[in-house]
Amino acid sequence: MASTPPRRVDVTRDGSLVLGSCHCVRCSVDITLRAAPGAWFRAELHLGDDLWISNLSLDAELWLVDLENPELRVRAPAGHRRLVVPFEFSEASFHVGGCAVSERLTLFGPEQTEQVRSMPCDESVSSIKRLRLGKGTIGAAVLDELCARTAETGRPASSIDIAEGLGHRGVALTAKGVDRHLDHLFRRCFPEDTSRARGWKRMALVSLVRRSRVAP
Ligand SMILES: [Zn+2]
Repeated sequence: MASTPPRRVDVTRDGSLVLGSCHCVRCSVDITLRAAPGAWFRAELHLGDDLWISNLSLDAELWLVDLENPELRVRAPAGHRRLVVPFEFSEASFHVGGCAVSERLTLFGPEQTEQVRSMPCDESVSSIKRLRLGKGTIGAAVLDELCARTAETGRPASSIDIAEGLGHRGVALTAKGVDRHLDHLFRRCFPEDTSRARGWKRMALVSLVRRSRVAP
């Protein structure tokens, strides 16, 4: 279901909008999404100063990805009410047991005010800004791939996976080479940290890059 291009819906008006799989009167869906055979899902978007979502499905998870920053994603479990979606341009889809069961829908929500967003302070991103990693550098590519792979699973990406992803972009680097780059970047960004806590080193870099991407 993921292969069809997403439909676009403008949700800037105030009020609410029901997305779902079923045409019946009881479901009273405003936007019917194509569904995998046997799937039933329904969610309500509340529009106003904030965009809220209530996932009214019984077993389908609602996934939302910020299209301006695909690492930002939210998963509303079935039954989860009033989840505030912190981005205005997102892609919605329903999943059961990890399987996509709906077509994807692109949502243009109301523009959010600056106060709504969490804005990281300058201090919290100063170490990576100081590095001045150019876009075309291997260090930047390693960090990009680390962040993208980690966003997919929510767990720190392995060097093997990162090396494979880099290969697809035409950057030839072994897993050992990825390790060395990450060690080097970590030492430069966090010179005071000597703990080298397992797993956290990568997540610390991911967290830092994410902050730097939304910082002013
Ligand atoms: Zn129905």
